[in-house]
Amino acid sequence: QQRALVIGAGIAGLATALRLRHKDYEVEVFEASPHTGGKLHAIQQDGYRFDLGPSLFTMPHFIDELFELYGANAKDYFNYKKKKRVCNYFWEDGTQFQADASVEDFINKAAKKFGEPEATIQQYLKRNREKYDLTANLFLEKSLHQAKTYFSVETLKAISQLYKLNLSESLNSVNKTYFKNPKLIQLFNRFATYNGSSPYKTPGIMSMIPHLEMHYGTFYPKGGMHEISQSLTRFAKEKGIKFHLNTKVHKILSQASKVTGIETEKGKVEADLVISNMDVFNSYQNLLKEAKKPQKTLQQERSSSALIFYWGIKKEFSELDLHNILFSEDYQTEFDYLFNKKEMYKDPTVYINITSKETPSDAPKGAENWFVMVNAPANYNQDWEQIKQDAKMAILQKIQLCLGVDISSYIETEYCWTPVDIEKETSSHRGSLYGASSNSKWAAFLRHPNFSSQFKNLYFCGGSVHPGGGIPLCLLSAKIVADLIPEI
Ligand code: FAD
Repeated sequence: QQRALVIGAGIAGLATALRLRHKDYEVEVFEASPHTGGKLHAIQQDGYRFDLGPSLFTMPHFIDELFELYGANAKDYFNYKKKKRVCNYFWEDGTQFQADASVEDFINKAAKKFGEPEATIQQYLKRNREKYDLTANLFLEKSLHQAKTYFSVETLKAISQLYKLNLSESLNSVNKTYFKNPKLIQLFNRFATYNGSSPYKTPGIMSMIPHLEMHYGTFYPKGGMHEISQSLTRFAKEKGIKFHLNTKVHKILSQASKVTGIETEKGKVEADLVISNMDVFNSYQNLLKEAKKPQKTLQQERSSSALIFYWGIKKEFSELDLHNILFSEDYQTEFDYLFNKKEMYKDPTVYINITSKETPSDAPKGAENWFVMVNAPANYNQDWEQIKQDAKMAILQKIQLCLGVDISSYIETEYCWTPVDIEKETSSHRGSLYGASSNSKWAAFLRHPNFSSQFKNLYFCGGSVHPGGGIPLCLLSAKIVADLIPEI
């Protein structure tokens, strides 16, 4: 039997391990921290449960696939439900909009609320779908770095219809060609943040993101987001995958053009294949010090990071749901601060996620567990202690202005993650949430491939490599890696 070693037990590391075990490899996972899941982790504090990282769950069938690969019934291991209400939006002037999962209801309500013709919204969503259908198979489901990807009917079709993809315009300018109401433009601009980019820079092709959310829906896992990584970990153990927690990998060992194993603080381990789920920047920086570095790829601008307050709130808010957005009054300036000035803007867009709306036991009776996140620049050694204090004041003010309530006296417990914490806890270069940003039309082609061109048995998966960050794309990276590796 051949042995595959996976460095990192993030969502992509777990998925790759399962896919390779299914190909009959002996698989061992080495994880620096005491737990699996990477960014998909959770804490308990003073009677509250908080998911630390991702809060929005889309495309759950990519998780189901991992159980089904082995002929198992996914529902026996992992359960989730579709959300009827996708998100509640709030503005300072008192405008509120409840986005429903039913596309028909969304169009109907949005047309009324924002004074746009239903047909225009319909046309916009149709075009978003076309973008996804044209490119998903090519850009997201295959290695972009292999010649055979380019010699297919799908590729020729996508190339012949490149004009439909709006690659040369920003997402914001595409949205402005459809809509007049600045609030609806802002609502659709927000989807740029799903891959940590700016709507004023990321290309118009990104309007396929709302298609994904609106067409496939949003979901909530039973037991919270953490259950995604934990159910996969349990299943992986059941399938004979071995986990080494608290075991930081220091070096990927190589001889000529092949990797031969890894070195951890506990010793050397030989392998036939090595797959790094660690941020690709740090994989080269720390584990492959002597290898040639793909400079252009590694120097790409990082995606945004986040500053998150996890607050135990001793009050219930009926106007809030699982996902809530309180918009900045000046979105463009907010993104100028994040990506150009590398600072937080004084009027940030505030995202509030409350899982106790779905699982009441996540908070004490009569209370709610608030995950309050603002976009933050990647870590360039800013003074995060000061920024944290300023951001807390700005968030409290935003909540006061949008919801009409001063919540400071209701906060009974607090935990916080800054970009530095995200960097420290998950080895994400500069604390970015999604690897490189997608702030240029070439970003998709500049992401690191899922394989090494120097070492023929070294592979990469996770949010910092192709096809990108976020749970669904990380899971696709695992699928691409497994497709590149032959059955034994
Ligand atoms: P990571 O989760 O980055 O894990 C990498 C693992 O490698 C870590 O466990 C780390 O300890 C380990 N490691 C690193 N170095 C070593 C070493 N030398 N030796 C051994 N182990 C090592 N995505 C969504 O889909 N929806 C969301 O709503 C969403 N919101 C987010 C909010 C926040 C606050 C954050 C931080 C991220 C969010 N994301 C979201 C992005 C998503 O979390 C990531 O894209 C995804 O989880 C990354 O998974 P990964 O497989 O790349 O590994």
